[in-house]
Amino acid sequence: MADTIASRNKLHGKVAIVTGGASGIGEASARSFAAHGARAVVIADVQDEKGQNVAVSIGPERCSYVHCDITDEEQVKTLVESTVRKCGRLDVMFSNAGVPSASDQTVLDLDFSAFERLLAVNVRGMAACVKHAARAMVEGGVKGGSVVCTANAAARVGMERFTDYVMSKHALLGLVRSASLQLAKHGIRVNSVSPGGVGTPLLRAMLGIEEEVELDEVVEGFSRMKGTMKAKNVADAVVFLASEDSEFMTGHDLAVDGAIVTGGASGIGEATARSF
Ligand code: NAD
Repeated sequence: MADTIASRNKLHGKVAIVTGGASGIGEASARSFAAHGARAVVIADVQDEKGQNVAVSIGPERCSYVHCDITDEEQVKTLVESTVRKCGRLDVMFSNAGVPSASDQTVLDLDFSAFERLLAVNVRGMAACVKHAARAMVEGGVKGGSVVCTANAAARVGMERFTDYVMSKHALLGLVRSASLQLAKHGIRVNSVSPGGVGTPLLRAMLGIEEEVELDEVVEGFSRMKGTMKAKNVADAVVFLASEDSEFMTGHDLAVDGAIVTGGASGIGEATARSF
């Protein structure tokens, strides 16, 4: 595609929050939002130093960092309120922060303390972000508000392990579909993006990959396409869902997975199995 001003300015003048923006997919998306002309990008995370460094590198005139643990609804409410107070409105919420399974978590060995900790972030925390962003958009009379959540290609299939994580991403689709129905009359869209495998700290932790092992080699196995999917590939889809380019899409789950799941249900299971 020709690199026209229009193709680079899909979020011109928008105010956006990116949870989990200190790392991985969130970081790449915060960078893309700013590159696409967002007026203000607020990174919300619990990794303060990393988050601040990302904000500084994007540019303090456009990007800021706020400490927010999404498991605490009050912190999410404060994040949204302070953004609206400072920037005047909220146009885009990218609810992306998530955590991996703490262990294999097959159904025979489910550890419910770990299960609850994971759901507190991946489901309850995501729901708090959707709730408070949507309230701010409705109350502010925002036209064209967009909420995007990060699900996972595994939200469409079962997996051999990581039951709590897979359950959390299935639950997220229920949130996206219900919220999209409820918010359509307010002109607010709610969608999700479902990545396959991206080389981030979360993937490394979940698959127990040692620091010395190059993540790209592992990630190649998570796609049927040649090459390695990057966080930027997911960010491109997020920009699309956040922008008016997708103005009549809502309640949709957009897979960015190199056909690992969309091309056949066994793909992600095979890839995970290969990586052990
Ligand atoms: P990452 O580890 O690079 O980023 C996750 C970020 O979320 C981190 O910066 C972390 O500090 C933050 N976070 C965790 N708990 C938080 C909390 N309670 N409050 C605020 N922030 C918190 O991992 P990533 O792969 O970029 O993950 C982003 C999202 O993508 C997650 O929802 C994950 O489930 C999803 N995802 C990742 C992959 C993959 O292969 N990496 C595939 C599909 C979906």
